Amino acid sequence: MLRQLWTALRTGIVTEPPARVSDLERVGERLAAEITRAFGRSLHIRQVDAGSPNCCEIEISGLTGPHYDLERFGLHFVASPRHADCLLVTGPVTRNMAEPLRRTWEATPDPKLVIAVGDCGRDGGLFRGSYAVAGGVADVIPVDAVIPGCPPSPAALLAGLLDAIRRRR
Ligand code: SF4
Repeated sequence: MLRQLWTALRTGIVTEPPARVSDLERVGERLAAEITRAFGRSLHIRQVDAGSPNCCEIEISGLTGPHYDLERFGLHFVASPRHADCLLVTGPVTRNMAEPLRRTWEATPDPKLVIAVGDCGRDGGLFRGSYAVAGGVADVIPVDAVIPGCPPSPAALLAGLLDAIRRRR
């Protein structure tokens, strides 16, 4: 017990400092305004894990926590692609997930926004060239924007969403 306590005291805090609230608020307010202009209401997102090892998902789920609280900016995660305006896809796309991803894309009503998340979603990342991987998201379905990073932080995800919605407009 004493050894664990000593190790904890010696190691200190190893997590990254949180994003500055003022930066977060600024991006979030711009995002809310862009969403209202582009969609006339809130933005509904279906997150698709097309084969990622779940590290990008941890960052995405951070957006729904009390610190980022993305719903206050007019973004909501939904359970069905039929209720979604946007697909947020993490990759790499494994061969097993290529067909379900295509079907999810087809089930999402037009006009849909497709965003590939992370270096894996961009081009397969660390897993590019694996026998089990079909490629990045754009190798399977049309992609409007990419949010690179391994992983992109929740703040980078918000900034990437803002950029994607602006460019689409
Ligand atoms: S891009 Fe990096 S963090 Fe995201 S799923 Fe791939 S390996 Fe994990």
